[in-house]
Amino acid sequence: MIKVETIERTDEDKIALLHDEAMKLGATITKLISTKNIVVEPWVQLKCRFGCTKFGKYKTCPPYTPTYQETRELLNCYKSAILIEGQPPAKQFEGMLLKLEHKANLSGFYKAFSMNAGPCPLCAECDVTGTCPMPEDARPSMEACGIDVFKTVRDNGFEIKFLEHKTEYVKYFGLLLLE
Ligand code: SF4
Repeated sequence: MIKVETIERTDEDKIALLHDEAMKLGATITKLISTKNIVVEPWVQLKCRFGCTKFGKYKTCPPYTPTYQETRELLNCYKSAILIEGQPPAKQFEGMLLKLEHKANLSGFYKAFSMNAGPCPLCAECDVTGTCPMPEDARPSMEACGIDVFKTVRDNGFEIKFLEHKTEYVKYFGLLLLE
């Protein structure tokens, strides 16, 4: 008779595996944070509306994303998150976040949800009047939901700055909400 042993993993073990997987998939830094340390501000979506050429052009951008009030409520549904620093290309970065989200779901964090960086990179053009062909993969960015990414990443020990030249090193930041 074959004896099958199941390994019971603690949440700490599962989170350590998610960190390892993120680094394997191209993350440069990952950190477990409390959702209490995610800063949501009303002014962030103002910057989308008056300053971003992508406003209204993607289903994952305002005005289609949760308002900052809704995001505050959403974050109250989660105790912790993994903040993930990575780099372009955008499709690869989003692909990594989705893989981590699925891995988190399978490991028991059934509410896991990822937030991307920037507009959805999945279609050449986003038809905001039609039906999204990949709703299971399209994820809003943190900023599109009203999260102050600068303050959030700095408060959690990461470095971020405005780029003055196109040749400077670009960082992406994503979030994996866990519970
Ligand atoms: S998958 Fe395509 S249609 Fe859906 S949000 Fe992304 S770009 Fe838009």
